[in-house]
Formats: sequence, structure tokens, C-alpha cells
Amino acid sequence: MAGRPGKLTSNLSYLCWLHGKGECEKDLDKVFGLWALASGCCQEAIPVDYSSTYEEVLGKLLAHDVAAHGIPAENAGDLDAFKRQLFGRYGP
Ligand SMILES: [Zn+2]
Repeated sequence: MAGRPGKLTSNLSYLCWLHGKGECEKDLDKVFGLWALASGCCQEAIPVDYSSTYEEVLGKLLAHDVAAHGIPAENAGDLDAFKRQLFGRYGP
């Protein structure tokens, strides 16, 4: 994948990992607050929907990472580890 100059985008999960360690915001706000900065593929796969639960959104994010961003499939079943990885000890 060639980088396109001018626009900086990243995996949504990577953005969560970078910025998700704060303790003040709601969990869904952490994810959706970073959503606008994420790559288009992530925005399509994880639509902003505040009627979803945190578990549902993180499940979609993990599935998308496996499908589109080369996360090893053996990690796909371990949502708790994924959450800890992204949000550290402040995750639920
Ligand atoms: Zn993506």
C-alpha cells in the first residue's frame, strides 16, 4: 500500500492504542473520538453508532484488524487481550 501524500490516516485500532490510555472519557467516546482520523477502510468497517455496545464495537474493530490489517487470526478470539492492549488498565 503506497502512502498518499497530504493526508495522514491510520488504523483505528492503532489510534486507539496511541490515544486510548486516558481515563476520563467514556469507552465509546475514545473509539469514536478518533474515528475521523482513521483510514477509510476502518470507518466503513466500524460505523459510528452510539447504540452499539463497547463490546460490539471492539469486536468489529478486532475482526476488521484481522481481515484488513494483518493482525494474526489466532488473536481474533481474545477480545479481552485486545482491549487491554488498546486501552491499558483503564479498559473495562
Ligand atoms: Zn482499516
